[in-house]
Amino acid sequence: MTKESLSALWEPVLLRIKGRVSADVFSRWIEVIRPLSWEKGKVVLGVPNDFYVLWLKENYLPLLQQCLLEERGKSEEVVFQVDSEPRPEPAPLEPPEPRAPRRKSTEARTAPALNPAFTFDNFVVGPSNTFAHVACMAVANKPAQAYNPLLIYGGSGLGKTHLMQAIGHAVYRTAHSARVCYVSAESFLNEFVDYVLNKTTNDFRRKYRGMDVLLLDDVHFLAGKTGIQEEFFHTFNALTNARKQIVLTCDRPIAEIVGLEPRLVSRFGWGLVTELSPPDLETRLAILRKKAAGMNITLPPEVMEFIAENFRTDIRKLEGALTRVVSYASLCRQPINVETVSRLLRDTVEKAARQISVDAIQKAVAETFDLRLADMTSKRRPQSVAFPRQVAMYLSRTLTPHSLPAIGEAFGRNHATVIHACRAVENRMRSDPAFRETIDALRERLQQP
Ligand code: ADP
Ligand code: MG
Repeated sequence: MTKESLSALWEPVLLRIKGRVSADVFSRWIEVIRPLSWEKGKVVLGVPNDFYVLWLKENYLPLLQQCLLEERGKSEEVVFQVDSEPRPEPAPLEPPEPRAPRRKSTEARTAPALNPAFTFDNFVVGPSNTFAHVACMAVANKPAQAYNPLLIYGGSGLGKTHLMQAIGHAVYRTAHSARVCYVSAESFLNEFVDYVLNKTTNDFRRKYRGMDVLLLDDVHFLAGKTGIQEEFFHTFNALTNARKQIVLTCDRPIAEIVGLEPRLVSRFGWGLVTELSPPDLETRLAILRKKAAGMNITLPPEVMEFIAENFRTDIRKLEGALTRVVSYASLCRQPINVETVSRLLRDTVEKAARQISVDAIQKAVAETFDLRLADMTSKRRPQSVAFPRQVAMYLSRTLTPHSLPAIGEAFGRNHATVIHACRAVENRMRSDPAFRETIDALRERLQQP
């Protein structure tokens, strides 16, 4: 089905929904939906990220289904899917200056495709992200002057995409003509492939090399993909030579990515590298309060604390828990207390709350490899001791929220040793299935309550 016929089917449904929700809800949650396919009674709807999937499912699915039924005369299955389709630029938060020069309508412009919620205003600052936040503000205020490139790294759900897009929003707000482009490394690759297939690589180059600010999300995705690394290398050079800003995110320190060309590794470190760590309790509470206020709801403080206590390492999951509680509250119209919430979140809570300590890891590894606990921190170097120690470092890195320097310290070493250990263990796991099983068993044992 062509794009045109898809939107011809979708438009009337959209109009129906529009009549039934507030303008705010419509522009925030509904207008961003893009029909991707519509066949055999199944509609696949594209949305900007997985928060939308969750939110729409929990809050607007019945309404969507009802409107589809009314419009089509039969019920349709609805599936949400994250897609990278550019969306119209967000409405400016302040009315534009009356005499601001208007863009020529013929001038092609890439919509930044930013999530309207990912602004600095919506970002809660705490000890885990102060530094990254300040760096991003500096870049937003002085693109290509403060730090270039800016690289933000940290685990999943810690706010990398949010902060990166906040830069986009801010730049865009101050300089409306700035060409800001947000793209995930995966979309960047897919798009490149499309251009190659259509033999229009020059258009691809023109597009990306003409940006003022390029926000490239999740660069770890480029690992092992040499063609696109080569292309990005040239994009990178062209942009930095032209004094344009590049912002990158990654789910781990760059040095830990296996399969990234050394020349990219070195370039990624040219500017400023900043880490996002898991937020402390206060920050998690502040985030919950902010999100709740945004949804216009209040929950008892002990319920907020319960959620904050139990979701520690991933803000996306923290938000997911809140969304679940809020939609439950609105559906059941029952008082919400810690007991109902703990039952509601039971399956997710158990995993989140089980905090594993570096101590416990060191003990378990020492037992498994028949060593003394002191060997975990000793300076002894024989391979029989050194390798298990590396295993313990690797497990600490993957099972606890601690930073590299903190883990290094727990082993009486520095952060570079931890990076080296993680690589060594990952390599061995890749080549040695029996070893991989040992590690998996250790991991399972540690994760047991
Ligand atoms: P990442 O890209 O690191 O996986 P995201 O940027 O997508 O994570 O963040 C996940 C969710 O958590 C988003 O909805 C984001 O708005 C929210 N979030 C993360 N950090 C903060 C923060 N400091 N304040 C408010 N919301 C946050
Ligand atoms: Mg992200």
